[in-house]
Amino acid sequence: MIHVLIVEDEKPISSLIRMSLTKEGYRCTCAYDGAEAADLLEREPSFDLILLDVMLPEVDGFELMEYIRPLEIPVIFLTAKGAVADRVKGLRLGAEDYIVKPFDTIELLARVDVVLRRYKKCDMVLEIGGVKIDTASMRVWRGEEEISLTKTEYDLLLLFARNPRRAMYRETIYERVWGGDY
Ligand code: CA
Repeated sequence: MIHVLIVEDEKPISSLIRMSLTKEGYRCTCAYDGAEAADLLEREPSFDLILLDVMLPEVDGFELMEYIRPLEIPVIFLTAKGAVADRVKGLRLGAEDYIVKPFDTIELLARVDVVLRRYKKCDMVLEIGGVKIDTASMRVWRGEEEISLTKTEYDLLLLFARNPRRAMYRETIYERVWGGDY
């Protein structure tokens, strides 16, 4: 299971992130200041991804980044609206991406997904309902038989396979599979 560390001192934002990621099947641990995050990382340096707020009590996100870099865990910075300098600094310090607060859940999930895929942290083979999906080669089997799918059919199947027993809005599906303003 993918384990995400959420470092954010604003509890409502932290809870929202935790809720959205848990729903998608990620395991989450929350730290509410920089020192707590550093302690957690010392005890368990095996997180798959860190969502890191810049403005934190104790140790700020940039200082923490110096500590995280040797661990080679991908980081997505959570920055305030308009704080362009923060975003640039975060990327220069080695962050993979940033998200500007306030953000939509869908944007958060998309960015998390992209970074994890870049780091090949996603489950490579999914099996559900007798169907096997190899996400590395994008091939699909039902039992022994390989099924040929179009790109869109494949993306839809993958979306549903990754979100079992979950109802989704039509708009969510459009956005996740067809992208943007479809
Ligand atoms: Ca903060």
